[in-house]
Amino acid sequence: MNICKERAFDLLKQISFQRIAGTAEELKCAEMLKAECEKVGVPAVIEAFEIDMPEIHEAKLEVTKPEHCEIRCVGIGKSGVTPDEGLCGPLLYIEDGMEANLVDAKGKILLLSGAAKPEVLERMRKSGALGYIACHGSLYDPEEMIPEIRTRSERRKPGEDANFPGVVIHITDAQKLLRMNPEEIRIIVKQDVDKKGTSHNVVATIEGTEKPEEIIAFSAHYDSVIYGTGAWDNGTGSITIMELMHHFVKNPPKRTLKFVWCGSEEIGLCGSKAYCEAHKDEMEKHLFNINVDMTGVLLGYEKAVCSCDEIVAKYVDFLGRVEGFPIVTDVDMYPSDSSSFARAGVPAMTFARLAPKGGAEIHSRKDIFEVLDPNAFINTVAFMVKFSDAVVNAKVFPVPRQLPKELVEKIEQMKKMMGEDKKTEKKDDEKTEEKK
Ligand SMILES: [Zn+2]
Repeated sequence: MNICKERAFDLLKQISFQRIAGTAEELKCAEMLKAECEKVGVPAVIEAFEIDMPEIHEAKLEVTKPEHCEIRCVGIGKSGVTPDEGLCGPLLYIEDGMEANLVDAKGKILLLSGAAKPEVLERMRKSGALGYIACHGSLYDPEEMIPEIRTRSERRKPGEDANFPGVVIHITDAQKLLRMNPEEIRIIVKQDVDKKGTSHNVVATIEGTEKPEEIIAFSAHYDSVIYGTGAWDNGTGSITIMELMHHFVKNPPKRTLKFVWCGSEEIGLCGSKAYCEAHKDEMEKHLFNINVDMTGVLLGYEKAVCSCDEIVAKYVDFLGRVEGFPIVTDVDMYPSDSSSFARAGVPAMTFARLAPKGGAEIHSRKDIFEVLDPNAFINTVAFMVKFSDAVVNAKVFPVPRQLPKELVEKIEQMKKMMGEDKKTEKKDDEKTEEKK
């Protein structure tokens, strides 16, 4: 095995800076990863793709009655815009946004417990409410974190033009707001919802020695969110697949390997979606995707979520026992880049070393280098090398192409929720049109 924890953590230290989707810092990290590949003679390219980058011009939340006070907030990208004078109405706390929470929502401004899932958003819009307030963070966050509100954007169905303005506040302020029991509040949101930006994937290739036409793609997102260094999420995944690359440079694989560092995962798996789209013509040749999202945390446990036939989950469990590497396995979709591959019809999986409750946290300034450990990290990499060696060099490729029925159904549901089923239907129509 040609893996090295010092080399990996040295790179991790270098890339542990805020790398938000579509920013110059994200691109800077892409260039560092590309240079690292080229240093050991592996050709790498940076592939640009367009992302939604709505620009918020103004966001304001205030209590107007009985007494005026202002509450820190940020606008939700693509949610909508208010008139100049804003929208005024009573506040209604809707918890998780179930139907029974919304019976009395008309003409009100809704406060919900967390972020709005697509189905909750749809219910809120239909309820006749004016707009909404989402919240984030923990009531136990230190004082300095309260103003650090993570920006977010809604994901719109193609062609959807609903105007339902929203803002995000810290959960500490949400509690304060509710305790105030205000008579009337006001939100103002002004934004350019259609603004676009550019993000990048880094794609490195090691040609297979025996079956170069068959591809295994390793992936890890390298972008981070605001107010964090993204050391754990997902600097660690980025250095994990870099170490796998080092291993395969010294141990040439039978099949072709792609190492894909994805941009813009944090805003909706955009990098992996863009990769699958840009490489559409060779998706058939992609036999398997091995994704890594977070490794190396000292206090943690190993997990493998397989978005593919259960034979892989069983094999990981089996190998884990053989190697004395405890790992929880599951067959499901996972909220990381493996999902994009599965949706494109490629069997996929994600490896992760997750933290126990009360342990390390992500998506804020709490995602720090100090919770990580080179030995915990290299232990995971060593197991992944064993697993990957077997898969990459298999005499008969062991992962069936077909996804299990329940995953196919889940994917279909997800596509329906995001209106993507209609898009493909339309594309099929266009195709038949072309044939005529
Ligand atoms: Zn992540």
